[in-house]
Amino acid sequence: MRIVIKIGTSTLAHPTGHLNIRRVETLCRAMSDIKNAGHELILVSSGAIGMGVGKLGLRERPRDIPSKQAAAAVGQCELMYIYDKLFSEYHHTVAQLLITGDDIANDQRQQNFTNTLSRLLELGALPIINENDTVATDEIVIGDNDTLAAIVAKSVKAELLILLSDIDGLYTADPHTHPDARLLHRITAIDESVLELAGASSSSQGTGGMVTKLRAAQICMSCGCDMVIANGNAPGNLYDILDGKEVGTTFACCFGKEDVL
Ligand code: GLU
Repeated sequence: MRIVIKIGTSTLAHPTGHLNIRRVETLCRAMSDIKNAGHELILVSSGAIGMGVGKLGLRERPRDIPSKQAAAAVGQCELMYIYDKLFSEYHHTVAQLLITGDDIANDQRQQNFTNTLSRLLELGALPIINENDTVATDEIVIGDNDTLAAIVAKSVKAELLILLSDIDGLYTADPHTHPDARLLHRITAIDESVLELAGASSSSQGTGGMVTKLRAAQICMSCGCDMVIANGNAPGNLYDILDGKEVGTTFACCFGKEDVL
């Protein structure tokens, strides 16, 4: 199976901006194992800006563009250094791809990107993708890695996109304020009633929230790719998803049992 996994900043880093070592180590181990089992894997990783903030010792996430871009330049190196180190332990070769909205909008560049990705997969490498935050400005930015991951899944005709975040999935109401909120396990169509739930399950860190995750699900469902939102704090979730167990919220293209809202 061809799988895209997206890891959000809140999964990778502590609120200090420093790496959550235990979590990243166990995630890289699980992903290595999934690759060893014969799956083709592409990783979309956030965390460049967050890690840059930690490495540069900034007190908070910068708001102005040059500082954000400088933090991303530092943090992206740190991110790839860590991935290279951890995946190398299991003899997997990582490759870095940084793109912006321009690369998606331009047919030729989009094709070049897809060709490179396909070749990397043929070569057995593990592509790790992020937005090129050092040059992305408002006019050309994709903006969030949920959307980027869905665009990648569509480009390479992936069968499954897994969004790992700091939430369990899509709820019927905000679980922080509504103890009776129910996690929706399976969605087969994104209609108004589903879109209305986007505000209910917000994520605490990173750029995306449930709105961008639902947008990603729409892209995936339009091209026959299933998508799962799951909590990244339990790397075992990755195995469970592939074993077909009920984890997080699945946006399923094929017709199946649907949660009744
Ligand atoms: N590209 C951003 C980063 O690496 C993250 C965007 C997102 O969280 O969706 O910091």
